[in-house]
Amino acid sequence: MSPSRRPARPTVTSGKVAARDTWVDDDGIRKPAGEVHAWEPGQNQTVCGLPLARAGLVRFPHVAFADTDPLTGGSADAVRWVCPKCAAASGRPRGSRGWERRDPRP
Ligand SMILES: [Zn+2]
Repeated sequence: MSPSRRPARPTVTSGKVAARDTWVDDDGIRKPAGEVHAWEPGQNQTVCGLPLARAGLVRFPHVAFADTDPLTGGSADAVRWVCPKCAAASGRPRGSRGWERRDPRP
C-alpha cells in the first residue's frame, strides 16, 4: 500500500540507482539486480518516494539510472523490473512508459 506520491521535481538530472538486489560482475563491481528505482545521492528515498531503508533497497552511487535501461544500459543484465514512475521522472528517452520483463509461465 504505497501512497502514490509524485516526485517533487519532474526531472532528475543526476539519477543514480537503488535496487532490491545486488550482484557482482567479473570486475568485482556491484551492480543492481531485481527491482530498480532511480535515486539521487544524498536522499533517503527513491525518486518515486520509497524510503530506502524500509523498502530494503541498496544504493548504487556508482551506477547511473540510465545504465539500467534494458535497451541501452550497460548495467541492466540482472535488472528485472524498472520502476515506471522513476523512469518517467528521470526523463528516460526510451521506454518512458516503463517496461516489465515477465517471467515465462510454467
Ligand atoms: Zn521508483
